[in-house]
Amino acid sequence: MPDAIQSAPIAPPAIIALIGLGQMGLPMAARLILAGFQVHGADPSETARALFEQGGGKAFADAAQAAKGASAIITMLPNGKIVRDVLLGANGIAPRLPKGTLIIDMSSSAPTDTTSLAAELAPFGLPLLDAPVSGGVKRAIDGSLAIMAGGPEVEVERAGPILQAMGKSIFATGPTGSGHAMKALNNYVSAAGLIAASEALLVGRSFGLKPDTIVDVLNASTGRNNSTEVKMKPFVISEAFNSGFSFALMAKDLRIAADLATHLGLGIPQIAAVARLWEEAKGKLKPDADHTEIYRYLAEAFDNGPVQG
Ligand code: NAD
Repeated sequence: MPDAIQSAPIAPPAIIALIGLGQMGLPMAARLILAGFQVHGADPSETARALFEQGGGKAFADAAQAAKGASAIITMLPNGKIVRDVLLGANGIAPRLPKGTLIIDMSSSAPTDTTSLAAELAPFGLPLLDAPVSGGVKRAIDGSLAIMAGGPEVEVERAGPILQAMGKSIFATGPTGSGHAMKALNNYVSAAGLIAASEALLVGRSFGLKPDTIVDVLNASTGRNNSTEVKMKPFVISEAFNSGFSFALMAKDLRIAADLATHLGLGIPQIAAVARLWEEAKGKLKPDADHTEIYRYLAEAFDNGPVQG
């Protein structure tokens, strides 16, 4: 149980509460369990809770129950509004947590909301780290995520064993909110790369190039990027569209990146254009579409054909 002043790293077998057992939360919890932490998970989804218990965790429908005895609370939720609600909403857990409990928001939240959240948690004696991740489900499973941690250095150090259990590259990015800013910028670059690769595939195919040849040449050439390397063949050319990262979550990240540029008074045209394209496409695709379905949207938009499918 945390005291008022904490500085020692939070190490196994400490209890960690992980709120949000979705595509990412589940495998991240599995890495924490593997490292020797006792993990309490909370999620409204019965299926998610059952999967979590099969993996050795202790599941709760209620975040407050999961948080009992925890030294740190990790949130891995769809967005920062839900994170705030879990902590400070009508049934928020923050007022019930012992002072010094470390809150780590690993969701991809908006950096300006994160700085406000840190200020709201401070009177409860609850330090906040923003520590979003990159690498997708595959790297969550093998514990090799990139983690960008924003917040006081002492708290980044305290979170060290927790973050090391889930990630391979851990960056202290600076003050509170800087991790979330970095994450939104990363996903802008990632989405722009996916759009470029998708458009090259569409044009190349129309010209008569074989899809696999296009990707093989890009991967051996200067056009190589993360999408050409890990997304185009398994998820796009195969038409599986099942990367595990939803279209809606990517649209949210791009909106955060575009809003950040606007907030800073920067009229950056490509960030705004990519965010707009993603929003338009989201309106045409099914609500549970995978983010790699931007290819389907672009393909059908080229032909003016139906997109919902
Ligand atoms: P997901 O939709 O699969 O999982 C979210 C989980 O949160 C769901 O199981 C949902 O039931 C649960 N949830 C919703 N409200 C809740 C509440 N009030 N209390 C407890 N649980 C609640 O999403 P995901 O793909 O795991 O992504 C989670 C976060 O990580 C998002 O912010 C996303 O942008 C980010 N992210 C995702 C990926 C990816 O590849 N999927 C990669 C990097 C970052």
